[in-house]
Amino acid sequence: MMRCWVEISRERLAANFHAIRRAVGDSVAVMPVVKADAYRHGAAEVAQVLTAEGAQWLAVSSVDEGIHLRRHGIAARVLIMGGVLPWERQQLREYDLTPAIHDLADIGRLGDIAYHLKVDTGMGRLGVHAASTDIVQAVSSHPSRLEGLMTHFASSADFSSPQTDLQVEAFEAVRTALAAAGHVPRYVHMASTNPVMLPRRQTWQNMVRPGIALYGYWTPGKEAPRPLLEVRPVLSWKASIVLVKEVKRGSPLGYGAMYWAQRDMRIAVLGIGYADGLPHKLSNRGRILAGGKAAPILGAVSMDLTVIDVTHAPHLQTGDTVTVIGTDGEAQQDARHVARAAGTITYAVLCGISSRVKRVYL
Ligand SMILES: *Cc1c(COP(=O)(O)O)cnc(C)c1O
Repeated sequence: MMRCWVEISRERLAANFHAIRRAVGDSVAVMPVVKADAYRHGAAEVAQVLTAEGAQWLAVSSVDEGIHLRRHGIAARVLIMGGVLPWERQQLREYDLTPAIHDLADIGRLGDIAYHLKVDTGMGRLGVHAASTDIVQAVSSHPSRLEGLMTHFASSADFSSPQTDLQVEAFEAVRTALAAAGHVPRYVHMASTNPVMLPRRQTWQNMVRPGIALYGYWTPGKEAPRPLLEVRPVLSWKASIVLVKEVKRGSPLGYGAMYWAQRDMRIAVLGIGYADGLPHKLSNRGRILAGGKAAPILGAVSMDLTVIDVTHAPHLQTGDTVTVIGTDGEAQQDARHVARAAGTITYAVLCGISSRVKRVYL
């Protein structure tokens, strides 16, 4: 037992991975995205599970994240998606990492390293934004190997927007121009979770890059079709009750007296706060599952402590477990619910779980 911890189900992770593999079929490789410490599920452990289940490629954001995988014995190919800084170039070779290239000028700086060329087809963030002729010329004039061609979508969950179709079109133009010059990359990939889940099959090419679906989530978008497959949350987030007590009607609770007891009530002080990643925005709004019910957060979420109403559960005592993400009896809450209550996104809730929170692998 701990003060605040997450439980990560290796079985669910593997099941989500296989569900995605089955959905896209044998002709499409699945490159799991394990950036940001695998959305805080633990990059090394997640990578171990996924490579044992057959993943040949993993994607991370930074060279540091790639090195972390290598230092934990991960032998799969690793794509660095988020850019390589000038002083990190040497480490690509040293750690056998594969860069996504976002600037044509970088192709000449790679030596003979294989790379994936990222095209900015309208996302307006990373990726090469250049005329097809310039792209073809840059690829042709260097000995490095164009192993992959990729892009990333800005609005793939939104079926009321034409942006994804326009991006596909722009991508196809570059791909066609490269093919005409004899450059046919082994891997062509565009799709993250949403174009897999809400299926946009024309984006699958021969590789997909799901991140959050592996961890059990996806984004319901505007006018979007039903999801193609079912994925289930991999992570549960728990905390211990530090203290239970009775307070009288009219008592102020916590910083700034943001909450006043509306009646005599029983409260529990939990060993979790915003330093653990529980969003401060949940102050006076969020719920924590306790004693089989969703118990309202009372007052401010503080750094290390949070107060909830447990009047409904007189049996709860110090040392008992409450659930931020997961199930407790009939009650269930996932990261999407937490995000909605906090006015943020599921990704930010998961990535916000801090390093102080212990991880237990099941
Ligand atoms: C994060 C990321 C992904 C995975 O996104 P999800 O929405 O988590 O599936 C895929 N590709 C790129 C370039 C990314 O940055």
